Amino acid sequence: MSGVFYFPNHCDSLYLFEKKDMPGYELWGEEEQKEIKDVIDSSALMRYNFEHLRNGHWKAQEWETAIAEKLRVKHVQLTSSGTTALMTAIRSLGIGAGDEIIMPTFTFVASFEAILFIGAIPVLADVDETLTLSPVAIRKAISPRTKAIMPVHMCGSMADMNPIMEIAQAHNLHVIEDACQAIGATYNGKYLGTIGQVGCYSFDFVKTITSGEGGAVLTNDKTIHDFAERFSDHGHDHIGNDRGAENHPIPGLNFRISELHAAVGLAQWRKLDSILQQQRKIKSQMKEILAREESIRFRKIPDPDGENASFLSIFLEDENLARMTASALKKNGIGCAYWYDNNWHYVRKWNHFKHLKNEKWLYREQRDLLPDYQNQDFSVSDNIIRKTISFPLSLNWTEQEVTKQAEKILQIIQAQKVKI
Ligand SMILES: *Cc1c(COP(=O)(O)O)cnc(C)c1O
Repeated sequence: MSGVFYFPNHCDSLYLFEKKDMPGYELWGEEEQKEIKDVIDSSALMRYNFEHLRNGHWKAQEWETAIAEKLRVKHVQLTSSGTTALMTAIRSLGIGAGDEIIMPTFTFVASFEAILFIGAIPVLADVDETLTLSPVAIRKAISPRTKAIMPVHMCGSMADMNPIMEIAQAHNLHVIEDACQAIGATYNGKYLGTIGQVGCYSFDFVKTITSGEGGAVLTNDKTIHDFAERFSDHGHDHIGNDRGAENHPIPGLNFRISELHAAVGLAQWRKLDSILQQQRKIKSQMKEILAREESIRFRKIPDPDGENASFLSIFLEDENLARMTASALKKNGIGCAYWYDNNWHYVRKWNHFKHLKNEKWLYREQRDLLPDYQNQDFSVSDNIIRKTISFPLSLNWTEQEVTKQAEKILQIIQAQKVKI
């Protein structure tokens, strides 16, 4: 794959990528096509029932089993997206109207949306140099309404889960891990998404593994799983083989994944280990070269052996240097994200969330409980994110390309430093 791509992971023109970004879709091949063909030939596009059409194909079930085995987690429920996986996870914990969930200022907007649209209250807390929720900030954000903490494992690496689990235990809170950007990553030997009570993956088109669209709810708790299974399919109990005669123990929605999407995901899932291996190799090569410049500091990674390594994130000395560097990189066709100016991933530009208190389509009770995001002090996060630049890594880079790219990045940073 070659050519110039716009970073599709929800961004503006700053994020121009020469060649590519996150890998799943870079590895489209015969394997995916074969799995899809099974579904097309059988015509059973739906994941439940229709036994007489299926030719024995149950792609969603097969993929759920494969995920559970790989992640050593008891239950997996696939959904139509990472966003619907998060909504399902939140409801599965019994969280709803007026309950507060603590989430980070740096994440994809979906984490916020999922909480809001369940009727709960997103409480934003600062990130630290892990680029994920700061335990100090979590403590400060806890209130009598807090029901859960939602760490988001951003850009392939992880939140420091031990202190977060300790805080949760001490305050009797649930932990919902948003591991949408950290597929296959681990923390002290456990897969991210399987440490808290419930975790979520996304398989949208720009994630480490893609099914086109898709998501997963991961849990070791059967009650949570049973709820998730029902909630994501209109409350159906899935007992028996006559869909029309099934009972509905709870109200739910349609957050189902289709067999076509699951077929793609199943084929992609089998490539996970080789994707991670390649990403880790590229990242360490690139990091070694960038480390030659003393003023570059690297994102703090609580368990360096466990990250999925889809991005390399660095801190430059200050905002000015970071912004100039990002813009010079762009001019040189080198893909990077300067999150401080990005309106999908960082609180500073989430203007559409800052005016929710005036939105008449929300119940007044929810509006009244929402924090005043507009006037909250996120200077701790600002001071980190304004210096941060992330480089998405591509599976298709050769060793020579990585060296060339890293050396070019170094040169560009050094050239900006001279200008300041
Ligand atoms: C992609 C993403 C989501 C949402 O996933 P979709 O499948 O796009 O709905 C949620 N959280 C984070 C951190 C993400 O990166």
